[in-house]
Amino acid sequence: MKPVRQQVLGVRCWVLGVGCILGFMFISGCDNSPRLYKESRVMMGTFVEVISPEEKAAGIAFGEIKRIEDLLSKYNQASEVSKLNSAGQLKVSRETYYIIVRSKEFWALSNGAFDITVGPLVELWGFRDKKYYLPLKAEIAQTLKMVGTDKIILNPADNLVKFAVPGMQIDLGAIAKGYAVGCAVRKLRENAIKSCLINAGGQIYCLGSKSGKPWVVAIADPGKKGISGKLRLINKAVSTSGDYEQFFIKDGTRYGHIFDPRTGMPANSGLASVTVVADDSLVADALTTAIFVLGEEKGKSLAEKFPGVKIKIIKERNG
Ligand code: FAD
Ligand code: MG
Repeated sequence: MKPVRQQVLGVRCWVLGVGCILGFMFISGCDNSPRLYKESRVMMGTFVEVISPEEKAAGIAFGEIKRIEDLLSKYNQASEVSKLNSAGQLKVSRETYYIIVRSKEFWALSNGAFDITVGPLVELWGFRDKKYYLPLKAEIAQTLKMVGTDKIILNPADNLVKFAVPGMQIDLGAIAKGYAVGCAVRKLRENAIKSCLINAGGQIYCLGSKSGKPWVVAIADPGKKGISGKLRLINKAVSTSGDYEQFFIKDGTRYGHIFDPRTGMPANSGLASVTVVADDSLVADALTTAIFVLGEEKGKSLAEKFPGVKIKIIKERNG
């Protein structure tokens, strides 16, 4: 990995033909701070970037993220999630079981706004393969029969996960990136890395400080090219959810990739993006998606259930 002197790193990625400008960029002061090593890889369908004064940090972080991706990616036929989705039941590993249990908790806390069983909806609307499709009402109604975390049956005695309705599929896209980054941070700490920034497609963790000062993370403004604010963070996770990167427009209407599982339609709560700062990376990831679905008022109430969590909401221009 080559050492770099950081100035302003605008992070852009074009993955699978979809152009997306990530919600963050990193800004370093022009000071005498030590060199930083920076490395990027395409993982989990996005760019994962690791910045650290320690050369070995990136290898450690990528290794751990790859391990989680192999376990939880629905895009990998050999993963536990893919096997569960195709068989409808599976005795899973402790980690996969843990993620599903945490997802159930967020489903309950958000009154069903956060729901990992949106898999069939994501497919129906064409977001999995980026072959977008505007479904008929009857197709949405039919698909909704396969949606609902209450239809996931868990047996803690042997980690058996079972779907109550044939055709159900879980999609951990709104929580597994956060979990993966959290695992990478734990591995970095085990390896005595004290300073590192990981950005997995807008899912960020600021480990320690950057030469004794907080890492500075800028939040992009979804509607404009500029930024809407800066965060100065030490040992914090940041996550952003929005529909300004993954969406399609049909007959003048915009349809985003975050669904309201109660209607089967893309969430339409008047928000352009939600940013959450939390101690825990998984919590930050899941909360942003849940708040995006719930909207400002209910979203804030949900965030209040998590002490220490800070949120920033950017509303739609006409919202
Ligand atoms: P978030 O708001 O965090 O999550 C939104 C995603 O969660 C949606 O795209 C949908 O999948 C799901 N979702 C929608 N509505 C809800 C809801 N109400 N509740 C819960 N979940 C919902 N993409 C690829 O194109 N190719 C890949 O190879 C690939 N591999 C991946 C591997 C892993 C382990 C993970 C976690 C994701 C992978 N992705 C892949 C998905 C991709 O990176 C997603 O775009 C990403 O997870 C969405 O994250 P986000 O932060 O943009 O949005
Ligand atoms: Mg999320």
